[in-house]
Amino acid sequence: MSLILTVTRACNLRCSYCPTAKDGWPSLSVDQALQGLRLYAARGGGDLKLFGGEPLLVPEVVKAVMDEAEATPEIRRVYLSTNGLGLNRAWLGRIARSEKSILTISLDGAPEDNRRFRRTLHDDVPDAYDHIMRLREDILRTPRVVITQTIPPASASRAAQNFEHLLDLGFRRFNLLPGYYIPWRMDQLMALQRGFNEIGERIRDIWASGGNLYLRNLYTWAPTPFFNTGFVVDSDGTIHPSNLGLSSKLDDLRAQTQVGTLDDPPSPEALAEKTELVNQLLRDNLDEGVWESTQAVDAMLTELCRSLYGAWAERRRGAERVA
Ligand code: SF4
Repeated sequence: MSLILTVTRACNLRCSYCPTAKDGWPSLSVDQALQGLRLYAARGGGDLKLFGGEPLLVPEVVKAVMDEAEATPEIRRVYLSTNGLGLNRAWLGRIARSEKSILTISLDGAPEDNRRFRRTLHDDVPDAYDHIMRLREDILRTPRVVITQTIPPASASRAAQNFEHLLDLGFRRFNLLPGYYIPWRMDQLMALQRGFNEIGERIRDIWASGGNLYLRNLYTWAPTPFFNTGFVVDSDGTIHPSNLGLSSKLDDLRAQTQVGTLDDPPSPEALAEKTELVNQLLRDNLDEGVWESTQAVDAMLTELCRSLYGAWAERRRGAERVA
């Protein structure tokens, strides 16, 4: 079970497919975030995920958590997910020095698509694509960086081209993220299927020619599509078994998923009991079309992974023979 710290819900972007970014919510303080980390470590620990909103809008919290995690043997890895706007060379240096840290940057492909869907909140917020491009060489030199390519319905027909664009930029570590919890039309689902087929072929070709490509989706499985299940500390200090309440459509469910607070944490049994309820809550409260779309895109992503496992195992065997 992972620790998920939703350090803030604030974000300097308003991506068209994003269910989470919100103003007017508290962010976790350094003390609260460390309290969550210590609680989790005392229960055995594992992986820690820093999510938002945009976590780098509260850099002091992220730094404090990363430093403490580094010194805490019970914390295995620290995942930081960002839209990239808060990154600079100092942050990349920090990630490079900490072997526990894994950085995930959202970049959806060609600049037109990235700009179309990843809109800035205010005029003084820089363009995310341009910002990441300015840091591209440094990012490419930083170990353990993964690019999340979000694929919303409106650009599903260009999923493979956008993937190719990211390859052209030199990136080789990816996480594919079709739009979850939003409606997809049938033609968009078919376009996504074609896109996944082409991406799958491209990845197999890279592996077959001895090239390196890491696809995080091959290593992840979640009982609930998209949302993280685990020991979830929301930005107001409440504790839940899932971060599904990040979605504004599912905000009302927070009262049902809340199982404690940082000052009154749940027993492991109480948390496990609530975890069992999450999928049913989603099914009961989501619009049927949205739930069906979510199931459909999740099944396509799962099928893509299944279709890649054989080639991936072969590539690993080849790499071991060379070593
Ligand atoms: S960067 Fe992330 S949190 Fe911010 S609006 Fe986009 S998807 Fe939402």
